[in-house]
Amino acid sequence: MRDAAPKATWADPPRRRAAAAAAGRRRRARAPLVDLHSHTRASDGSDTPDELVAAAARAGIGVLAVTDHDTLAAAEAARALGRRLGVEVLTGCELTTEAEGEVVHLLAYGDGLAAAGVGARYAAVRDGREARNRAIGRRLRVLTGVGYEDAAALAGGAALSRAHFARVLIARGVARDVADAFERWLGPGRPAYVAAPGLPLAEAVAMVHAAGGVAVVAHPGRLPAITRDRVLAACVEAGADGLEAWHPQHDRDERRRWAGQAERNGLLVTGGSDYHGSHKPGIALGTGAGDLAVPVDAVAELRARLSAPPAPAASPRRTVTSG
Ligand code: AMP
Ligand code: MN
Ligand code: MN
Ligand code: MN
Repeated sequence: MRDAAPKATWADPPRRRAAAAAAGRRRRARAPLVDLHSHTRASDGSDTPDELVAAAARAGIGVLAVTDHDTLAAAEAARALGRRLGVEVLTGCELTTEAEGEVVHLLAYGDGLAAAGVGARYAAVRDGREARNRAIGRRLRVLTGVGYEDAAALAGGAALSRAHFARVLIARGVARDVADAFERWLGPGRPAYVAAPGLPLAEAVAMVHAAGGVAVVAHPGRLPAITRDRVLAACVEAGADGLEAWHPQHDRDERRRWAGQAERNGLLVTGGSDYHGSHKPGIALGTGAGDLAVPVDAVAELRARLSAPPAPAASPRRTVTSG
């Protein structure tokens, strides 16, 4: 399996990691940044693939993964421009999956995803998403007067998400802010909530592995606290390869805690800004809300797993330990 843990681990306090890395930085003012989670207009971001990669180059990103929701449509264009601008672009996507009754976002990485038909398999999921957005619109129309067409007009061709409905609710004075919109109408258990369709998590993980790819549970801190341990145990059982510890929605302590939990379970640790361009104001490539720093080691570990042969279908799985 994997080698013994390095001396300074990602679970260590930032100061210790910084000291450990200081020697390597003496001659370079700024090491290239890493960002393994970003969106384009192929899903719900505001940038074209070219705009995203150009922005990454300006931001000093050395390795960027493009991870649109349920589609690989932006990957090729992004990689092509990345080659010209000196940004290494990794092919990825953020798959909508379901485990233990919860929606789980699963980051898939790997050059073989498209050829293995992952994008095609997810076409049905994307169609289901359209039906779901219309259902949300019907409910909201009755409740607030805001409908599907209002959110679609705001999205302007980008993949529609609840974030668009929230923005219309704010613009119409129905909700104070995004949090209010989700608490009153759009969040799980609220009257306009309709779950996003997805593949069973185990099926998605198997599909990613069959493509020679790696599957990482996105922003685990966003899973509902009450079912989190059960959902994560199901993810590990299904063969998920890693946890996304570095994410703007995890605070400093959570980032360390998720990194530690991943390492204790022999899982990969990844991270990224979850950049959506102007659709998520205040989130920058590489640095997120300003304090994100994905260790470059994350890329090396990811690469090592990508180049490894696909795991056997019925490999014995670890049991997850939380804490
Ligand atoms: P959807 O993919 O349609 O389910 O919408 C997901 C998007 O809604 C996410 O990318 C977030 O931007 C936003 N979102 C989901 N839950 C919340 C929340 N509790 N508060 C604020 N924004 C949220
Ligand atoms: Mn999104
Ligand atoms: Mn997500
Ligand atoms: Mn995302």
